[in-house]
Amino acid sequence: MTKSLNLTLNADVLVIGGGPAGAWAARSAAERGAKVVLVDKGYLGSSGATAPGGTNLLYLPPDQELREQAVQHRLKIGGGLAEAGWIHRVLDQVYINLELVEKWEYPFVRDENGVPQRDHLQGPEYMRLMRKMVKRAGVKVLDQAPALELLLDGYGVGGARGVLRQENRDWEVRANAVIIATGGCAFLSKGLGCNVLTRDGYLMGGEAGAELSGMEFSRRYAPSPAFGSNTRSRLLGWATYYDQHGNELGGRRGEDFLAEQMLKGPVYAIMNKADTPEKQAILRSSHAIFFLPYDRAGIDVFKEPFPLTLRYEGTVRGTGGLRIVTDDCGTTVPGLYAAGDAATRERVTGAASGGGAFNASWAICSGTWAGEGAAAYAASGRFNASIRNLRPAGRYGLSPGEGASSDEVRKSGATPTRELVKRIQDQVFPLKINYFRSERGLTQALAKLNELWPEVNHQIVSNVHDRLHAREAASMAATARWMYTAALARKERRGEGLHVLQEYPDADPEQQHRLLVSGLEEIRVGTDRSFLAPASFNSKSVHSQEAAVK
Ligand SMILES: Cc1cc2nc3c(=O)[nH]c(=O)nc-3n(C[C@H](O)[C@H](O)[C@H](O)COP(=O)(O)OP(=O)(O)OC[C@H]3O[C@@H](n4cnc5c(N)ncnc54)[C@H](O)[C@@H]3O)c2cc1C
Repeated sequence: MTKSLNLTLNADVLVIGGGPAGAWAARSAAERGAKVVLVDKGYLGSSGATAPGGTNLLYLPPDQELREQAVQHRLKIGGGLAEAGWIHRVLDQVYINLELVEKWEYPFVRDENGVPQRDHLQGPEYMRLMRKMVKRAGVKVLDQAPALELLLDGYGVGGARGVLRQENRDWEVRANAVIIATGGCAFLSKGLGCNVLTRDGYLMGGEAGAELSGMEFSRRYAPSPAFGSNTRSRLLGWATYYDQHGNELGGRRGEDFLAEQMLKGPVYAIMNKADTPEKQAILRSSHAIFFLPYDRAGIDVFKEPFPLTLRYEGTVRGTGGLRIVTDDCGTTVPGLYAAGDAATRERVTGAASGGGAFNASWAICSGTWAGEGAAAYAASGRFNASIRNLRPAGRYGLSPGEGASSDEVRKSGATPTRELVKRIQDQVFPLKINYFRSERGLTQALAKLNELWPEVNHQIVSNVHDRLHAREAASMAATARWMYTAALARKERRGEGLHVLQEYPDADPEQQHRLLVSGLEEIRVGTDRSFLAPASFNSKSVHSQEAAVK
């Protein structure tokens, strides 16, 4: 098929990713007068980790004592890597934004006194509303339009390029500021809403020279039916577990319980602790989505055993991502901002998972701040992207050869992307490598990932979809290498154990630092202790980022 003409657009701010972080970022920038384009790999409103489920939020009334308690608790479980000032900022900002959501007529559940329960949002309704508000703010939205690479020059980032999947053509958006909000990376583990999350934004940022932080905190799996994708697993508290012979699996259900049992063999569950019709009805009405895959498969979960698996969630409910160096979520690259799961959440979650309230709240707040910062940066008018001599920054997984037949490319010795992805997953999914981490196991896995790394530039690419998948494979390979490099550098257990090596089971006070990784051929590791100094927010990014321009 002949490729149609490319779509080219100019904007002040380009937002890459249309989950909650991207939606809030786009709206926030547009409200400040910026001309904004938002591109999503799928569809703004139904794509990403939040859209298909429900999400709990960190919503606390402005009661100083209550908030201080929440902050102190998080500082403790976060292993001393979170910052009180940033947690308070999130508590303040999310409160404001959720009031706005109510004003937009989101149907919050109300208690018996009519008080709206703002600590929970239903994904589909929330994201449908966000799409409406983003469009109302005048943002141009391109759906099914994944970004593949950034545009760059000596002044920093100036836009991006990607593909329009349904039209078989490319897009290019020149913009003075770019916000990466592409979510985390679950390595195509088939978790609900997570299969678009291949950490494309990390690779784009990494190629532009951005640093990543907290990548070692990625030891996160979630139970799901072995035949389905639903990782909303809170209701499993009502289950009894069995082995394949029907023997009950006893013992204390500590954090490693399911993983340890699954190493021994298949695990089945029956939700027989909900032993009355009343309890079962309450569970069904409170978490309807949990029951869908079982109902479809004709399984009565309260009576019949169903097989479980642990799906890898990587950095979606881990904490690592692009390093944030300014209070408006600027990265270390001028003109480049990060929000939501694409950014490190360490400043508010520390070494503990942000799933369960912090991540969704961070997506709202970091999106809002990144939108403000990007709009201000773009408005400074010093870096007009439409007339700059920008070059595409992508270097990996953008194999030439589009148009060649698969056979031709295969004969040239190229690797099928599916095969490459399987080899990456083989190093990332196994519990015995990535859950029960050891120095030896991770060193071997990293060596295999380094070995396959050159192949990301020799994939079979014959159409626009292949181009996207080849790039996703490169992003996952890069992410896995950053993750394991950081994991091998943290020789201790910090916080809740979102990373721990068997050889170093205890916390080491000397390692109360953040680990930074950067680079793609050679990965560099550094440490950051600046957050241990008395809290002071960086000045707005226009100044700090200007200083960073070489
Ligand atoms: C099962 C589950 C339950 C959770 N429950 C909670 C909870 O109760 N509370 C909580 O705080 N957190 C929870 N989380 C985490 C929360 O869902 C995420 O933190 C949140 O969705 C992050 O928002 P985001 O916008 O950064 O990313 P996402 O919502 O994942 O959106 C990312 C978007 O980027 C797009 N994208 C990806 N690559 C590209 C590309 N190359 N070009 C263009 N677009 C791209 C995707 O299509 C997607 O729309 C949960 C996560 C899971 C998986």
